[in-house]
Amino acid sequence: MNDVLVTGGAGFIGSNTVDELIKKGYSVAIADNLSTGTKKNLNSEADFYEVDITSNELDNVFEKTKPKYVVHLAAQIDVRKSIKDPVYDARSNILGSINLFNFFDKYGVEKLVYSSSGGAIYGEPKNDPVDETHTVKPLCPYGASKYAVEKYLPLYKFDFNIMRYANVYGPRQDPLGEAGVVAIFSKKICDGESPVIFGDGLQSRDFVYVEDVARANISGLELETDSKAFNVGTGVETTVFSLYEFLREIFNSTIEPTYADPVAGEVRRIRLNCDLAKKELGWMPSYSIREGLEKTVLWMKNE
Ligand code: NAD
Repeated sequence: MNDVLVTGGAGFIGSNTVDELIKKGYSVAIADNLSTGTKKNLNSEADFYEVDITSNELDNVFEKTKPKYVVHLAAQIDVRKSIKDPVYDARSNILGSINLFNFFDKYGVEKLVYSSSGGAIYGEPKNDPVDETHTVKPLCPYGASKYAVEKYLPLYKFDFNIMRYANVYGPRQDPLGEAGVVAIFSKKICDGESPVIFGDGLQSRDFVYVEDVARANISGLELETDSKAFNVGTGVETTVFSLYEFLREIFNSTIEPTYADPVAGEVRRIRLNCDLAKKELGWMPSYSIREGLEKTVLWMKNE
């Protein structure tokens, strides 16, 4: 038996969330198919089940763990892959989620924290910064699949809170994937290779450090009220070019970037208004972009 089941707990945000949960004394189980997650990320104090969330083998996992809470992070997260193969994206992200939720009633799960995307669901912002009441207009199948699941949640009996993350970065982010500009740039600059900037580099994002996101997830779990969606970001806008400059400085490198065509399905500018999380969750990011990048690079160098 476990207090919390974390789907995607072998991945980047999931493993950092597992670590924070364990630090707080929760007993944790992880369900992950290791498609992008790795065994290296697994916290040794958590019980691990290698399972796909679209499969009925989840029944055994719930039978063994009987969790009170579920933090659902397992998903295909690659915007470009979602455009190339929207069926695969929908199968993992929508059908996988519905399959997961089907076990909640049978095994008495009381509350879910669902990881949605503040960067991918709102579309091109109509106002700045974007708050949770902004219209939803995803520009890619990934954004649509993350949001579709939000709309299923009120159909169930269990309590839930939705966390709409900005661009998350930090230790354990995979530089080999196509998402995660911080991890990709850091690896390139560290290896003395030129990072590729898609477009002019003036597109901007709200970058939030993964430890802050892990704390937000736990606040969402512990919050007494439910059925809310919270933006989880910093409210600070950083261009892709200045991100490259920060990293070049931290690495003490003189390497120049290479430019390539902009990517379809990505917004030009976005930063999130996170006042609701501050007011209701008592959550605020504790790392500035500079501090978070320094911690990420330090972790990378010790890997
Ligand atoms: P990640 O790829 O590191 O983590 C996803 C994890 O889920 C991996 O361990 C992977 O093996 C697992 N997984 C994928 N499909 C699965 C399946 N069908 N069955 C079981 N396990 C499966 O990505 P991440 O950045 O840690 O993202 C975690 C969650 O946060 C995702 O739901 C993503 O949509 C959401 N999110 C991430 C960001 C970001 O900036 N990284 C922003 C907004 C939302």
